Amino acid sequence: MQSTPDLASCLTGVSPDIRAALEGCLADRPLSWQQGVTLSRARGLDLLALCLCADHMRARQAGEVVTYVVNRNINFTNVCIKACRFCAFSRTLRSEQGYMLDTEEVVRRAVEAADMGATEVCLQAGLAPSAWGRLYPDLCRAVKAARPDLHIHAFSPEEIKYGAALARTPVRDYLIELVDAGLGSLPGTSAEILDDALRDQIAPGRITTREWIEVITAAHSIGLPTTATMMFGHVETLEQRMRHLDLLRSIQADTGGFTEFVPLSFVHAEAPMFLDHSLPGVPPGPTGDDVIRLYAIARLMLGPSFRNIQASWVKEGLRQSQWLLSCGVNDLGGTLINESISTSAGAQHGQLMRPSTLRHAIRDAGRIPAQRNTLYDTLHTFDDPSTDTPEPLDLVSDPDATFGSYHALTLAPSFRYRKSV
Ligand code: SF4
Repeated sequence: MQSTPDLASCLTGVSPDIRAALEGCLADRPLSWQQGVTLSRARGLDLLALCLCADHMRARQAGEVVTYVVNRNINFTNVCIKACRFCAFSRTLRSEQGYMLDTEEVVRRAVEAADMGATEVCLQAGLAPSAWGRLYPDLCRAVKAARPDLHIHAFSPEEIKYGAALARTPVRDYLIELVDAGLGSLPGTSAEILDDALRDQIAPGRITTREWIEVITAAHSIGLPTTATMMFGHVETLEQRMRHLDLLRSIQADTGGFTEFVPLSFVHAEAPMFLDHSLPGVPPGPTGDDVIRLYAIARLMLGPSFRNIQASWVKEGLRQSQWLLSCGVNDLGGTLINESISTSAGAQHGQLMRPSTLRHAIRDAGRIPAQRNTLYDTLHTFDDPSTDTPEPLDLVSDPDATFGSYHALTLAPSFRYRKSV
């Protein structure tokens, strides 16, 4: 890690406004959202300087270890009453491709993952019209009864609002019920960009910014941690992006309940709003440099209060995720057996990442790999490559053959949605 005076000398030749923003970060002055917009325009040498400063701050704030979690996604239904324009995962009630896993199958998948070394299951799904008020607590209880050691990371704020409404229970009380049933943390998804005018464009009927904040802060108030996310690279402006980061930072200052920030690139290939041209000007996701800028700025803006900035290999691919380790990132997320939501949107990076593959990429970036749990407790640091034994998650070369693809699930007669309602 370079010392700050050395780093300052590297800023020679950088554009004055970018240099002023970076020097402020190095001096531990908070980066304003307006300065974030300035940094979002960094190109060439300015971009290299931005990455250098983000990497420096990552080393100061999070050290040299890069973490990952062994987990499994169980997207238990793709049937949804909403129709977010970016979502290629959901199906309508009448679709022939609608599926719903019953509780027995959810538990079977959770146990299978735990037997292979997973410490977490992530349950997220569509808002099925057949759901009942106690479905989500029932799922938590069933998984915990089978494997009490598994951490349940589940239910976006959108699902929490839906479940609470079905249960006719205030959100806070519903969250308490879920925690009693075994819920360990919430994914901070369904945030996209927290700007209601934009949300009305890309996802009419989605929960509002106020409702997202209401669920997240209620969770934090009862000691239930959440992640924080942002979906970027669609029709949002740089100002909306930076205000989103600023909002997350202010919530974190109040509650301290976010475990990490996860930027999520918009995956366009199967997204309705890209394919049907219903929304003008939808790009095919962010460019590579745009992704790098966003991650680096996130480190500079959020790093003082969010120790953990996670790269999503599902969205970015492992190659770009590896480079992001030099742009502010200190976590590579989960191994994600059966990731379906990005895969259905056209992401090409697969449903699963072997832990040994992640460790190889981390070491090749000059860092130290470590397996963590959901709440960032270190479970095992692989600081000596010569003692790095094969992981228990020992999969055949084609994980789809072992676990089944999203496509296969949408066609499986046994899980056809109509049969479960
Ligand atoms: S993003 Fe979630 S709420 Fe929106 S349509 Fe897709 S599954 Fe439904």
